[in-house]
Amino acid sequence: QVIYLNGEYVTKENATVSVYDHGFLYGDGIFEGIRIYDGNIFKCKEHLLRLYDSAKSIMLNIPLSMQEMQDTLIETIRRNELRDGYIRLVVSRGPGDLGLDPRRSPKANVIIIVEKLSIYPEEAYRNGLSTVSVSTRRNVPDALNPKIKSLNYLNNILVKIQANLAGVGEAIMLNSQGYVAEGSADNIFLVKNGVVFTPPAYIGALEGITRAAVMELCAKTGLTLKEEPFTLHDVYVADEVFFTGTAAEIIAVREVDGRVIGEGKAGPITTALLQEFRKIVTVDGVK
Ligand code: PLP
Repeated sequence: QVIYLNGEYVTKENATVSVYDHGFLYGDGIFEGIRIYDGNIFKCKEHLLRLYDSAKSIMLNIPLSMQEMQDTLIETIRRNELRDGYIRLVVSRGPGDLGLDPRRSPKANVIIIVEKLSIYPEEAYRNGLSTVSVSTRRNVPDALNPKIKSLNYLNNILVKIQANLAGVGEAIMLNSQGYVAEGSADNIFLVKNGVVFTPPAYIGALEGITRAAVMELCAKTGLTLKEEPFTLHDVYVADEVFFTGTAAEIIAVREVDGRVIGEGKAGPITTALLQEFRKIVTVDGVK
């Protein structure tokens, strides 16, 4: 395995950064998780746009242009000889002193890790996941806009811990007003009477790239999509519920807090969207 680290390609053992990196000391940095399908970097431009927007928002200077970053992704994948996998692109503020001041960390660390991906087994896509809602809240309004994909994932980790305790792989996080926001690392959708719903980003959700792809697929296949706030009640009585994310793709939910959703397996709209999604993953992106 070869890891890109600030212009060099190094082994896993040599891929180290300073303990003074503010990514480590303060979670000061941003990241992207990207999939490669048969050599295609799925939605590469969209991921890079989100990365550079996150960087601009937190005044983090990425020392590569977007084109250079794309070329570097391609080169890192090539060196790892992977046709299918997962890319973790991290830009941290870089080493500084023990103070918060980002001006004292003038040189960002840029890291690209490419790995094989262990994903849900195929039957999980047919049978759906069992999930729970958790008490951890996505606070809105928040000092940290949910559109920024930052290295501050402690809230999401608290969700993951609650999911672990409940014995499920993903859980549902509400915002401080009680509206459904998202999962620990996935966006959430529901289907009711043939209409597809997902919470608007301002409710406290990342603007997921998979979420955007699903919204496009809804338009393409003639499904009505509404970005509207909804509550757990709406989730319990939905015909279908599914999560979306780079790693999870489109995964059905069969049960939420003990309530069986629809038929208790992947519903027809979720299944149709997954089929459409699998058609675009090898073509929509950068080779
Ligand atoms: N929400 C959060 C908090 C995430 O971390 C992620 C993915 O990493 C998502 C949603 C899904 O976004 P995407 O489809 O871009 O992977």
